[in-house]
Parts: sequence; C-alpha cells; structure tokens
Amino acid sequence: MKPGFATLFLFLLLLQGIYASGSDRWQQHVSYTMDIDFDVETHRFTGKQKLVYTNNSPDTLYHVFYHLFFNAFQPGSMMDVRSSQPATMDLQIGTRISALGPDEIGYLHISRLECNGRKVEFKEEGTILEVSLKQPILPGSMVTFEMDFNGQVPMQIRRSGRFNEEGIDYSMSQWYPKMCEYDYQGWHADPYIGREFYGVWGAYDVTIRIDHRYIVGATGHLQDPESIGYGYGGIEIPVNKVGKTVWRFTADNIHDFVWAADPDYTHTTHLCADGTRLHFFYVETPENKQPWEQLPKIMEEALDIINARYGKYPYGEYSFIQGGDGGMEYPMATLITGNRPLVSLVGVSVHELLHSWFQMMMGTNELLHAWMDEGFTTYASSETMDELVRRKFIPGEPSDFPSESSYQGYFALAKSGREEPLSTHADHLNMSALYPLSAYNKGAVFLQQLEYVIGPSAWEKGMLAYFNEWKFKHPNPNDFIRVMEKASGLELDWYKEYFVYTSKTIDYGIREASPDGSGTKITLERIGQMPMPIDLVVTDEKGNKEVYNIPLRIMRGEKQPETKRKKDWHVAEDWPWTNPVYELHIPLRFEQIQRIEIDPSLRMADINRENNSYPKPGS
Ligand SMILES: [Zn+2]
Repeated sequence: MKPGFATLFLFLLLLQGIYASGSDRWQQHVSYTMDIDFDVETHRFTGKQKLVYTNNSPDTLYHVFYHLFFNAFQPGSMMDVRSSQPATMDLQIGTRISALGPDEIGYLHISRLECNGRKVEFKEEGTILEVSLKQPILPGSMVTFEMDFNGQVPMQIRRSGRFNEEGIDYSMSQWYPKMCEYDYQGWHADPYIGREFYGVWGAYDVTIRIDHRYIVGATGHLQDPESIGYGYGGIEIPVNKVGKTVWRFTADNIHDFVWAADPDYTHTTHLCADGTRLHFFYVETPENKQPWEQLPKIMEEALDIINARYGKYPYGEYSFIQGGDGGMEYPMATLITGNRPLVSLVGVSVHELLHSWFQMMMGTNELLHAWMDEGFTTYASSETMDELVRRKFIPGEPSDFPSESSYQGYFALAKSGREEPLSTHADHLNMSALYPLSAYNKGAVFLQQLEYVIGPSAWEKGMLAYFNEWKFKHPNPNDFIRVMEKASGLELDWYKEYFVYTSKTIDYGIREASPDGSGTKITLERIGQMPMPIDLVVTDEKGNKEVYNIPLRIMRGEKQPETKRKKDWHVAEDWPWTNPVYELHIPLRFEQIQRIEIDPSLRMADINRENNSYPKPGS
C-alpha cells in the first residue's frame, strides 16, 4: 500500500469513527473506588467512595444526582405507596414495605460530600441525592467527588436485601450511592419505584471488608485471590481465620456493581474453551446439588450460541450467584433463586446472562425503553433455550416457533383493552401487572415480527451490526431501527411508529377467492389499523406451495426470502397502506386451489387468525 493511500485510508477510518453513531452520542464516564466495612451483626455498613467523573457532554453541569436505592425500602416511600395501590401493586413487593420496622428497613445516608476537595451542598429526596455544585463542571472536564456513606441492608423485599426466601444472607444490589446518567436527553434522576435501571459506564474498584466466615460473589475480577484462599476449584476460607476478610474486585466498562455474601456458599468455577471463566455460588441442598453441578457445561454451550448470534462476551468472567428474588441482571453477574429443577435453573441463567448484551453492553435506558432490554432478552432466551434442546444439553422437544408464548402474552395484552404503548415509561404504567406482557412479550414479538418483515438474512446481519455499532452507547429505538433499515435496505420507520408508539393492532383477512379467467382472484382486506407486508401461501391440490409476498409500498422494497424458498417465491404488487382492500391475481386455476393462508409461519402478530385462511376453518 502506498503511503499516500494509507494516510487517506486512516483519515477515512477516523471520520467514520467520529460520525458512525452521530455526534450527539458522547458518553459521561465514571471511575469509582469504594471501601466498605460491613457488620454482619447489625446488617449495617459504612463506606468511602471516591468518584472521578468526566463530563464529556457539551453542557456545563451545575448539579449532579446520585441514586440512593436502599431508601426505597422504608414505609411511605414512593415504591411503598405505588405498590400499596391495587392497580400498580408489584406482587413481589405487595404491602411488605409498609410493615418494615426500624431495624428492617433499608437506608443509605451521606455524611460527607466533597467535590475537588471542597464541601458541596446536598439533600436527600427519598431515593435521589440532589447535589448543588459551588463550581460547575465544565464541558470536557474531570472532577473528583469524595463521600462517606452508611447504610442498612433491608429485609429482602425486591432484588436486594438480607435473608432471602432461600436463606441467602446478603443480596447486595443497588446498594451504593450511584451517579445518575446524564445523556443527550439530560439528567435521568429517576426515583426508585419498581422498574429498572440506567447507568454510566466506567471503572469500579470495590473493597469489601466482611466477617471471615462469609464467601463473596460479585461483579468484576477478584484481586489477590490467593490471599483469601481462592483456588480455581473455588473459594475455601481457611478455618483458623479470624476477623474480617478483605475482598477487592475491579472491572472496567461496567455501569453497576453487585455482590452477595453467605457463609454457606459452595463456589465452583468453569473455564470455557474460549477462555471465559464462569463462577457459580450456591448453598447446596440435596435437591439443588445436581442441577447446579450440571449447570456449568450447559452455560458454556449457551455462551457459545449467544456469542455467535449477538456478538462476543467481552468481560472474561461471569458469576451465577444464588440470591435476590427470581432473577436479576447485573454486569458480569446475576442474582437468581437457585432451588429449581434443571430446566428452570438453566432458563433463568440463560435469560440473565443474555442481559449482558441487552442491558450491560447496549445500556438502553430501561425505564424509557424496557422492551429493548427485556423484550430482546426474552426473544433471545427462547431461541437459545430451543437451541440447547436441539443440541441435547437440556431435555425437551425442539420447537419451530420458540417465541410462541411471547405472542400469546402479547395477544392477551392487546385484547385486555388496557394496553399502553411500549413507549410508556416503565414506572408510569396504569397497571403494573401488564408490564411483563408489554416489555417482555410485546418486546419479543417486536423482534421476531421484524424478522418476518425484513427476512432472516437481513435480520441476522442487522442484529450483529446493532451490537457492533451500538455497544457501550445507549441506543434508543430509532438507533435500532436505523441499523435494521441499513441491513435490509428497507424503510422501517412505520414499523417502529406503529408497534412502539401506539397500541394499534394487526388484523388481515381473506375476503374471498373466485375464478378469474384461467386463474384466480384473491381479495384481501386490512381490518386492523396497523399495516404490514403479507406473505400469502397458496397450496394446490397436490400440496405444492407458492408464496406471494406483498410488500407495503412505504417499505420501498421487499424482503429477501430464505434461500430454500427462493423458487416458489413471488413478489406481488405493493400494497399502499391506505387501501383497506387488495386484489391479487394468480395463474393457478380456482378449482386447483386446496388452501390459501396469510402468514402460516404465525410470525405476524395478527390478533384474529380466524379470517386468515380460505376456505375458512370448518367450511
Ligand atoms: Zn430480564
């Protein structure tokens, strides 16, 4: 390569780097150093936190905000009030917060806060610390906050707390003062009410001093493992030790930090062929011993499947930790309940591991776009579990439609009459009970149905491109759909607008079919308000199938069929979305037709399938 050309090439690469994701996508940066002294008698802790904060925004910041999540677990908190009302009750919380006594509540208080060595004013407002800065943080500058804080671990209510229902002593998630995210939409100082998270990526260096009898599982890489009896077979605490053990974990490019501690943890590790080390922390019982012993090999296979489809896991280590309630994702670790039969244990482990992609690396604002996190994870979990069945790593029958249950959930939502658009802020839904049907199920349908719209090859290419272009950048719905537009060459804004910002539904029908010269005329109708491209499958008397793909005109093109379908694939005239009726003429004689069906793949979320076939069912 000639030098001149090389320089030009480098320049173009640089330009591409700068403009690839838009100039508004700067990232704030955090670097935490924390030292925690934990008392297992009182369930309280004191901590020191040094936070180096870099303002990469073009804005001057006069305030900053921290999350104080533990303050949610107090009678009268916003979380308590919200969950005490029937429509917005979180069944896992109920009214239990109202009943907490002074020694059972959670709290997190700040006793000292300085910025660049000068005291600053701060005020606790429930789960948010409001900080007024004497000297603003200028664009492109870096400041250092130093604070002292103290907390009490609440009884296990939701996600974090002490003594969960399986007897794990400490599930320490959302436990430290955490800087709120500031992005192109401004501050995100959302109070902790029930739904999930959004955070700033950066480096964490966390030291935990805790009674020597405890074993700690956490986010990050354990430092000086030998000093606390860590071996690659797992951790065994020396019996003759006294006082506290000092555990130090570090990690980079993460936006949260979780840990859990129990004196009875069994800790095992598994080194995957790709070099990733998996950790497992659980309290062994006669019932859970076998599932947890089978889990490591299965999770290595799951990781292989996920890496190939959604991009490579970059952190080197991951911990599956028994704790919390149900399952909750954190960077490099998850807290899951662990007394489960094998398939359930694998299911929750796969789901939470997948959040390493759709949350820890993509970091979408979960409060605003929960469906991009839970929906994408749900879709990918169903696919991964099905692949594990196919590879005989878990028992079961392979499915040709792994996301079917997500469609059932979405249909229940659509027919409930209470559906709110996916774009509704997760804490502000009218009915909390509908959140899973919306974020998890309709979110999964969004992704699976998009594959129907653009075709499988463009979809697969798009999903990998999404990961590669948007990891560590907080993508929003528009960013995602633009990637898919580029991968498919199709216009897809309409798909996002209808399915995310409205609760309009899809219903297409076959009105009639009749002889038309030597061929057949098929009349289709759009009954629902959301337009979609149609795959119409015509089966002749011998069972041969032909597919007529009817693109929407606003797509400005059509999808590529699967390779195996190419020879029986016909692209029909576009359907302008305004038109309620569409006529299709096909050369097959009317008498030769055995059956006509709209989307037999069932990937299009048609809420009424009764009218999707001809002859009508039962006729
Ligand atoms: Zn999830």
